[in-house]
Amino acid sequence: MNIETFYVHLKFQTISGGWSVNLPFLCDKCGVCCTLEDFLNAGEIQGTAESDRGVYAKFKALTVELGKLFERDEKMYEQHIAAARCPFQEGNICSIYAIRPKGCSQFPNTPFGMLSEDCKALERFKEQKRALKRGRVVEETGHFTGDRIVPVSFSKKQYDACIAKLLKAGITEEEKALFNSLNEQKDNNS
Ligand code: SF4
Ligand code: SF4
Repeated sequence: MNIETFYVHLKFQTISGGWSVNLPFLCDKCGVCCTLEDFLNAGEIQGTAESDRGVYAKFKALTVELGKLFERDEKMYEQHIAAARCPFQEGNICSIYAIRPKGCSQFPNTPFGMLSEDCKALERFKEQKRALKRGRVVEETGHFTGDRIVPVSFSKKQYDACIAKLLKAGITEEEKALFNSLNEQKDNNS
């Protein structure tokens, strides 16, 4: 598992005992969520001023420039940060991915991220979650793949039923591959 993302552990309650699966969110890397305002609200860059000099120099120049704009015209500052792209975005790609702020790596599993209406991957994730939960009593917890993957427990029939529902909900091949890899660590065959 080398994709850093968040996932939900879904624990289904049944009369004969519970079973569970992990459903991951997979970013499309469309770059839509990388506005300057998003970046400024995402927390500190995770690197160090010594090892990531270029990044920190760019960040310092940015804060100076923004500070001046704020002093000059607060309204213009607000408009600018809402409209401008994050300065570390190159094409649709994050150029500081390994050291991006925590808020970026956790998106959309943040207080406001889940409310985002621009993220197509998030819409698909929500639809997949709805499909798996529909008609079932479910306990849901959120996790990150960078931490320990929560072990799952299901029968082949239950897993196949999940895949059928996910396919109907529009899961992509990449998302399905990630779903499969996140559900490899089984507790048992219920
Ligand atoms: S909007 Fe969604 S899919 Fe696009 S880069 Fe942001 S998290 Fe990824
Ligand atoms: S640091 Fe990277 S992930 Fe965060 S807003 Fe900028 S480009 Fe996007």
